[in-house]
Amino acid sequence: MEDVETFAFQAEIAQLMSLIINTFYSNKEIFLRELISNSSDALDKIRYESLTDPSKLESGKELYIKLIPDKNERSLTIIDTGVGMTKADLVNNLGTIAKSGTKAFMEALQAGADISMIGQFGVGFYSAYLVADRVVVTSKHSDDEQYTWESAAGGSFTIRPNKDEPLQRGTKITLYLKEDQIEYLEERRIKEVVKKHSQFIGYPIKLMVEKERDKQVPDDDEEDKEGEEKKEDEQTDVPKVEDVGADEDADKDTVKAKKFKTVKEKYIDDEELNKTKPLWTRNPDDISQEEYGEFYRSLSNDWEDHLAIKHFSVEGQLEFRALLFVPRRAPFDLFENRDEMSSLKDYVSRMKENQKQIYYITGENRDAVANSAFVERVKKGGFEVVYMIDPIDEYCIQQLKEYDGKQLVSVTKEGLELPEDEDEKKKLEEQKTKFENLCKIVKDILDKRVEKVVVSNRLVTSPCCIVTSQYGWTANMERIMKAQALRDTSTMGYMSAKKHFELNPDHSIIETLRQKADADKNDKSVKDLVMLLYETALLASGFNLEDPGVHASRIYRMISLGLGIDDDDLTAIPDDTTNPMDDLPPLEGDDEDASRMEEVD
Ligand code: ADP
Repeated sequence: MEDVETFAFQAEIAQLMSLIINTFYSNKEIFLRELISNSSDALDKIRYESLTDPSKLESGKELYIKLIPDKNERSLTIIDTGVGMTKADLVNNLGTIAKSGTKAFMEALQAGADISMIGQFGVGFYSAYLVADRVVVTSKHSDDEQYTWESAAGGSFTIRPNKDEPLQRGTKITLYLKEDQIEYLEERRIKEVVKKHSQFIGYPIKLMVEKERDKQVPDDDEEDKEGEEKKEDEQTDVPKVEDVGADEDADKDTVKAKKFKTVKEKYIDDEELNKTKPLWTRNPDDISQEEYGEFYRSLSNDWEDHLAIKHFSVEGQLEFRALLFVPRRAPFDLFENRDEMSSLKDYVSRMKENQKQIYYITGENRDAVANSAFVERVKKGGFEVVYMIDPIDEYCIQQLKEYDGKQLVSVTKEGLELPEDEDEKKKLEEQKTKFENLCKIVKDILDKRVEKVVVSNRLVTSPCCIVTSQYGWTANMERIMKAQALRDTSTMGYMSAKKHFELNPDHSIIETLRQKADADKNDKSVKDLVMLLYETALLASGFNLEDPGVHASRIYRMISLGLGIDDDDLTAIPDDTTNPMDDLPPLEGDDEDASRMEEVD
């Protein structure tokens, strides 16, 4: 067939498949759990998409999973009306793109793990080869035509367009079962496996079953006996059927009853297998540990029960009931793509001799905290800083004040004290005096925007930074709280970060500012530059700007000055409500001001 394309499985996937096929393993039933779970994920995807775009369900509103055993063909088919796969999805997801889990799973198997853990490693699809020697996947995604993927393992698979029996949307997976796996064609066995592993799936799982019902058919034996009467019956067959049970004279009824008999008729019906009421809606007193365990395992693909469970309900603006499970082990990829991780115990063992505290920084991601001005001097001094970049860290650290007798100290909060030698302490004291005047002027300019302006001991290359007070939120916590959907605006006020502006006395910008301010405390350019420095420090310290427009106009103004554009043009920048010039005290000679602005750069 000309349209058939053949692809080689990515090497690790091919290896995994032959391992699945050749390993002696008795608990093969988990293949059904894996395929049903993939179907459920695909149904979730289309359901989520339809929340924002209801037209996504035009190709079929009913969301379900259907199992069809076929004894003649020795096949078991799993159909879902989920999102489906495009041709590219079939090629990529089912064979050519390796996932980190492929290798991790093989390594885990070597280390004694069980094949039933396959789903946790994100390669559950291939468990189909536990029971099948050939698998055919036909899929229809709304962005593409219908395609069929097929493989009998052996290192390759094929893809072809398939216009036969169009699916409206979704995926149909047919497993051609190995000779010794025909138990998965038995209704009883399928029901057992679905009940064990998939009873909490949120979409109906329908099993196509063969049923029997009674049917009235003409009784040939009777007819033969009655000879002549038979012909009469045939002629009047239909009206007689209608007459059954009607209130007619007894003679006639007796005649008809003789001519029909009841036989068993086979027919096909769908039976829903997972009608269980969701566990979290039930009363905790009526739920056994086994039921929680079953639910946890079906949800997590874990092969062991949970370590602990909390079943609770919340009532307030929102109401919900929830189950919170704690697993026995962390998932294998919990720390994937992160920090090297280090325990606090290891940190303490590496602490410098004169170091008394554990330094940490919270933030959005590793780059942001590693490049942050806050860690400059701490790192330069040879002290390690713990990067806490998970949102949950902010909450944990509010409770964890101390470890092994060592205080945990945020490098983004006020009062950071590094174990410095006497010379450095003396130098800092001198600088405090030297910069006292500048600090006062800057505080006047920034007014209520900051609590304090002080000389910093934590900066090396940055001119300034904004630290927060000991007991308020950090910038990172403020960011997290602002992102909450139902935030409590009252706490935003008193918990939100109290800002301290710290100046780096060793930085040329700060030194030049000091000289300007000492020379003339009303110097107009000082005010503009302080505002710019403050807003830039807010951004660099992880805060949001209250009014980014004002900051933008200040920057545009700087750029214009840098390009030598004269003041008439400058006033045409954005609109005059955000013109930083409005903020400045009246001064004679704007030309002079423009040239001063250039000098600082
Ligand atoms: P996982 O489901 O854990 O990502 P699998 O190996 O089971 O890993 O499946 C690989 C990918 O194939 C899935 O992530 C999904 O994109 C796709 N897939 C598998 N089964 C279906 C299905 N029934 N419908 C749509 N996509 C599917």
